[in-house]
Amino acid sequence: MTLPNPDFLQTLLDESARRHQHLCPRQVLGIRLGLAGLRALALLPDCGTPFQNADKRLLTIVETDGCGADGLAVATACSVGRRTLRVLDFGKVAATLVDTHTGRAVRVHPSPASRQLAASYAPDAPSQWHAYLFAYQLIPDEALVTTRPVRLTQSLAQLLSRPDARAQCAACGEEIINEREVVVGGQTLCRHCAGEVYYEPLP
Ligand SMILES: [Zn+2]
Ligand SMILES: [Zn+2]
Repeated sequence: MTLPNPDFLQTLLDESARRHQHLCPRQVLGIRLGLAGLRALALLPDCGTPFQNADKRLLTIVETDGCGADGLAVATACSVGRRTLRVLDFGKVAATLVDTHTGRAVRVHPSPASRQLAASYAPDAPSQWHAYLFAYQLIPDEALVTTRPVRLTQSLAQLLSRPDARAQCAACGEEIINEREVVVGGQTLCRHCAGEVYYEPLP
């Protein structure tokens, strides 16, 4: 049975709580998911120190925003700004961790039994919320997290692109980086001008 060292876990919880301005169960879950994923990729230092992602070796794709994402970000040392954390809003507290050196990827999500287990791991908790908060720190990886090897459907080259990639939209004139332009009828367009619209200008 695998459980993070309590002092090590506390270090991560403190950092997550600092970013999030309080501690809540989903941050704990996010940290546990991140640690389980790192362990599955053999990237977790065994000396009890947090994973450092200085070389951006790890890419994390998290499937919702919110509290769990903060926990995952702390455990995996991934961030949106460093382009090592992507949010795909599927509304799931789940993530795929990708070792960009080897191409190996694992998806982690809470095991279906994790909610029920919480009560038995924290029977004296003053509320359900507290039960999750405590239990998610105590349930072993094997019972808390489902880990499965996966393969990304998009190549890492497409996903990461190149730092110097730059294009200009033929319709709006805005700059497009990271090869996110699309070519329609021979014209280079941004996704918005190509029809992928998430806002409309007010008159
Ligand atoms: Zn929260
Ligand atoms: Zn455009």
